[in-house]
Amino acid sequence: MTETRVATRPWSSPPPEPVPTPQTVPYWEFTARGILALRRCRSCAAVFHRPVGGCPECGAEEAAWFPASGRATLFSYVIVHRGEGAFADRVPYAVALVRLAEGPVMVTGVVDVAQTPEALRLDMPLRVRFEPRGGYALPVFAPEPEAGP
Ligand SMILES: [Zn+2]
Repeated sequence: MTETRVATRPWSSPPPEPVPTPQTVPYWEFTARGILALRRCRSCAAVFHRPVGGCPECGAEEAAWFPASGRATLFSYVIVHRGEGAFADRVPYAVALVRLAEGPVMVTGVVDVAQTPEALRLDMPLRVRFEPRGGYALPVFAPEPEAGP
């Protein structure tokens, strides 16, 4: 069987690094440990990805962090053909919306796959991985290997 994965190009200049705020420090500390963290509302149990602010469903302020499964599917994407700064040499690249197994949709990148409409199949199964960025790590997603015999 032929391996059809595409290696992600190395950065030619340093990519931007996360700049945690007091509210987002927990999120970035999780990613630095290889964990994609979500929050669950303590009032209505809604699950959401955004690391700041109250519950998007009921407005309650209290939410608890928990580790996500890291599984997702490709919900939608756009392909960027002109990038700036460190992104200039990475074009074309997809800016993707992925739907996490826990429900929330997040903006991210999809790696190890050609950045083309032919290769980026909607609903394709994905798995989180982490790109080192300074002292933190950025969650991106790669195609989940098909379940083999
Ligand atoms: Zn809520």
